[in-house]
Amino acid sequence: MGASYAADIGAVYSTPSMIRVFGTIFAGLLGLAFGSFLNVCVSRWPEGESVVHPHSHCRSCGRTLAWWENVPLVSWLALRGHCRSCGAGISWRYPLVELAVGWLWAVVAWRSLADIAGPASDDFLWAVAISAVSQMILLWLLVALAILDFEHLWLPNKITIPGMLMGFAVTLLYAAVNSKHVFAFYGALELEGRSMWHVIWQRLIAILVAAGLILLIRWVYWLIRRREGVGLGDAKLMAMLAAWLGLGGALLSFTIGVVLGAAAALFLLFAPSTRKDHGRWAQTKLPLGAFLCVGGIVSSLWGERMIHAYLRWAGF
Ligand SMILES: [Zn+2]
Repeated sequence: MGASYAADIGAVYSTPSMIRVFGTIFAGLLGLAFGSFLNVCVSRWPEGESVVHPHSHCRSCGRTLAWWENVPLVSWLALRGHCRSCGAGISWRYPLVELAVGWLWAVVAWRSLADIAGPASDDFLWAVAISAVSQMILLWLLVALAILDFEHLWLPNKITIPGMLMGFAVTLLYAAVNSKHVFAFYGALELEGRSMWHVIWQRLIAILVAAGLILLIRWVYWLIRRREGVGLGDAKLMAMLAAWLGLGGALLSFTIGVVLGAAAALFLLFAPSTRKDHGRWAQTKLPLGAFLCVGGIVSSLWGERMIHAYLRWAGF
């Protein structure tokens, strides 16, 4: 009886589902912490400040924060969104970004840990680990770019260019471990069974086409309106998305971004403040890059499913 009891306990407590649940919770908490760090980065980079020095302080009165005022999510709720000494409001962007990164990382972990259920080779485990970690990095970069573009209409080269190189390097890493593994990562499937040279060419062309699409729109806009409508930062962001997600993933990100941007423009058009002053609506600059980033996040996590669903619907 003792032995079978132990076996039953073992079946309940050591199954992959427990690893999956705890792994997901751990990734979510880690995501909250990295979301908190992201908040520091996107607050300080535009001011040209260092992200490590000085310690976290109130952006209004400059007081250095106590450790308990730095706990992701919890501190903002405990302080009810206000600085303890000067009473200045702390933007809802802080808890929102922390929640977003925490949730996105939890989704990646939940999926990746489903892939390793059951017996798996060391090779496969490494492939899943590389896939999960690189996808978490991509999502972190896209949230950072989305906030910077939304708040400052700024897509810094120091993120988009290294981001593009990193995406290209990760793609080559996939191609090197290759084929037998199905990655839980959009853009990896099209690499299956391809030679290294094929992968390199395919990604280089994807980068050029994705950036070229934005440059073409920029040029047409210039011909019609004689002013800058779409920035070069958007072209570099599209190149970065193509490096990570392939041409299909970049075009899907673009489509989602444009739809969201159009929806935001319509919303602004009918908002009470712009109804009085239509001239201002025409001058409003929409953060296209922020919408492209949201498109990139959606394509990275759900792109493959969306494209399959579309192909089924279209009868392929
Ligand atoms: Zn303060």
